Amino acid sequence: MLYPPRLDLANLPTPLVKLERFSERLGGVNVWMKRDEMTGVEVSGNKIRKLEFCIAEAQRQGCDTLITCGGIQSNHCRATAIMGARLGMKVQLILRGEEPKIPSGNHFMDLLAGAEISYLPAEGWATAHPQYARQLQAEAEVAGHKAYFIPTGASDEVGLWGYIAASEELAADFKRLNLKPSAIVTATGSGGTQAGLIVGNQIFDLAEKIVAFNVSDSAVYFDERAREDIARWQTRYADLLEGTPGAEIDAAALSVLTQEGYLGPGYGIGYPEVFDTIKALASAEGVFLDPVYTGKAFYGMVNEILKGDEGCFAGAKDIVFIHTGGLFGVFPQQENFTFAAD
Ligand SMILES: *Cc1c(COP(=O)(O)O)cnc(C)c1O
Repeated sequence: MLYPPRLDLANLPTPLVKLERFSERLGGVNVWMKRDEMTGVEVSGNKIRKLEFCIAEAQRQGCDTLITCGGIQSNHCRATAIMGARLGMKVQLILRGEEPKIPSGNHFMDLLAGAEISYLPAEGWATAHPQYARQLQAEAEVAGHKAYFIPTGASDEVGLWGYIAASEELAADFKRLNLKPSAIVTATGSGGTQAGLIVGNQIFDLAEKIVAFNVSDSAVYFDERAREDIARWQTRYADLLEGTPGAEIDAAALSVLTQEGYLGPGYGIGYPEVFDTIKALASAEGVFLDPVYTGKAFYGMVNEILKGDEGCFAGAKDIVFIHTGGLFGVFPQQENFTFAAD
């Protein structure tokens, strides 16, 4: 596979392991985990795979500053802030909501890494944040700098490459382990991991299906998002992709499987089953999920598996869960965990 410019930022390949003890509870289904929470210590998670391509593109354009945006506890903003510090690039973050009185989790790490942070109200965010990013870019230019804007979650046609490259890595994992999973599972938030895996599955023929559990928005939203992002990727990289089997997919005809029902009260807000799932996996396997993304997706996956023929994994033997990271998001919600004898 030919790739556009890419930086070597993540610790790759990440391990693919079978959750031996946890799988015993699932009536004959083996759950495997692609441990992308191990892409780095501070830069852990899925965003660094996308940033390998986004920051390479920024540097190709001669930029010395990165601007990006997200929620206060954004894992993507944290990864960008730290990578900027490592590469000697200035990072400006636009965060959604009020500045917390006491920084915690990812936000605390943004501050430690020296990112410059602006806070915009949640109300009007959708239109206000790109405008504000353009303003910051203009100000950078006046000051003799050049700033590159990475959209939310690095989910655009550049960041899409992250999980296409991850798919190539999974193809090698599956070959080594002689594994042909029924499904690959991910949490979906800004859609780039899901869309990258969908394209990667077309190119590398990994599994029967890619199933995403939405932790924000709706299945309809992610359906449109994936098609739009993939179509833009095909247009932008048409020359590079010429002759790549699987890349000429008709984006309109793709099947985008987003399983609803596990978002709970809203983006970023955990609920009891999620906190219990985090505890259960940590104690059974020593693997830590987070309450914003992976905890909801993993809970959803387990619940759907236990539904048997009624669930979205009917007939599955092997399922691969992508652990997309997010550990630092546990700490701001730690009061919600209870440890009474259960
Ligand atoms: C961002 C994120 C996701 C979702 O990935 P998208 O590509 O934004 O859909 C999942 N898990 C974690 C831990 C994340 O930080």
